[in-house]
Amino acid sequence: MRYSVAMSGETEAVMRDHLLREDGQEDVLIATYVLSTGIERTTALIRSVILPRDGERHVHGNASFTSAYVLRAAHEARLAGHGLVLLHSHPGGSGWQQLSLTDRETESEYERVARSATKMPMLGMTLGGKDTAWSARFWFNRSEPTWAESVRSVSPTLAVTWNEELRPVPSITRSQERTVSSWGDRAQGEIVRLRVLVVGGGSVGLDVAQRLAATGLITVGVMDYDSVEPRNLDRMIGATRLDAALGRAKVDVAARLMATAATADTIEIRRHEVSITDPVGVRIALDYDVIFSCVDTPWPRAVLNGIAYADLIPVIDGGIALTTFSDGRMRNGIWRTHALTPGRPCMACLGQLVAGDVSLDKLGLLEDPKYIEGANGEAPSHQNVAALSASVSASLLAQFVSLVAHPGGRGVPVPLHYVISTHTLMHSTASCGPYCAYENATATGDHRIPIAEHRVDWREEVEARKTKRRPIRLVALAVIESLLHRFVTRIR
Ligand SMILES: [Zn+2]
Repeated sequence: MRYSVAMSGETEAVMRDHLLREDGQEDVLIATYVLSTGIERTTALIRSVILPRDGERHVHGNASFTSAYVLRAAHEARLAGHGLVLLHSHPGGSGWQQLSLTDRETESEYERVARSATKMPMLGMTLGGKDTAWSARFWFNRSEPTWAESVRSVSPTLAVTWNEELRPVPSITRSQERTVSSWGDRAQGEIVRLRVLVVGGGSVGLDVAQRLAATGLITVGVMDYDSVEPRNLDRMIGATRLDAALGRAKVDVAARLMATAATADTIEIRRHEVSITDPVGVRIALDYDVIFSCVDTPWPRAVLNGIAYADLIPVIDGGIALTTFSDGRMRNGIWRTHALTPGRPCMACLGQLVAGDVSLDKLGLLEDPKYIEGANGEAPSHQNVAALSASVSASLLAQFVSLVAHPGGRGVPVPLHYVISTHTLMHSTASCGPYCAYENATATGDHRIPIAEHRVDWREEVEARKTKRRPIRLVALAVIESLLHRFVTRIR
């Protein structure tokens, strides 16, 4: 199991303002957390900050908590069902901070108080004042802490402090020189360590996944339970006729193309043949730092919209809609992209997610021609011109660059849409919804609104692909192809 900590940019600002004093002295602070439990990673989400009252801490030399402060905070945490976080600052520190002997004694001493009050492990955090680097550890027992791998602050700008011992910076390779010269080796080191998940391995997802591999990311996952079909070939660039004839899993095709495009010395490509609308898919998603939503149906997008806020994992979503005249000629096309993070409106507030459509999608009615006819509605548009797929993926990737590299010191823009008839880029005026259920569930983690459901339909599809019989001629070709691929990707 890996451990990490996440907080909204707003919460981080409150804690930073308190911990970094004008007089340059150390300070201490207490907060609470809830868990966001993935398959391989557990994340503590900072939930609320409990500021000290007069006399509840000492700030001379080594700052310290009074037990009155810890007990009051532990009581508040227990009432809320949260865990306890003890924080302190190292004003002159930079990078991932280690524990001094005094820090260790203090945290170890309060570990039992925190655990007996909250029934959850205590969390210790340190803020390095020089470069506002956070570090964190979980206290599962009082003798030795378990270090987190990263601490992320999530707002329109994503800032991650990495534990260099648990996730060291990979070396820069020859094929990355041009990329590194554009944003520097420090940014490269931070960006390539992000674990990024692409949900949907169709035209846009396939393109995004390859670009991430080419950027040098060392862990990229693709989630899709679908197979490649001949009708996909006009837009799944890189997928072959053999892929379609074999009915290969889209994640397998993505994995092959990513391995070809990868510039890192080693890349971990993770294939998830599951649906994001299933609780298993959600738990897998919680192992990642950033998610691309490359799916076009309401239910999966609603699940991802929830994760973006509840679990503080930025989701970059987008799509394209084309309209035609009655005689079939193209009328117009609009593609939209938006990054979902605290501080930016969610898809429901943007009008990109309608609750009724999510229900219809859950019932399977959006794909049912009889229902569509009876409801006098329009089928969801699956139309897309192959030549425009790259416009959507390009716009999504540009949002990713803004999120992680902050060009001009700015993070992700407001939601964007591009109108092709006039070639106009529009900036949305939608704002965060004060009564929005998704946004109000920010940092609720495992208490998120349960939108995912256990279903068998996608499982049957995966199972059918695995047991499908294929002509021997095609199987032989597949073997030759995979051997060739293996040798080619080994060239250094
Ligand atoms: Zn909203």
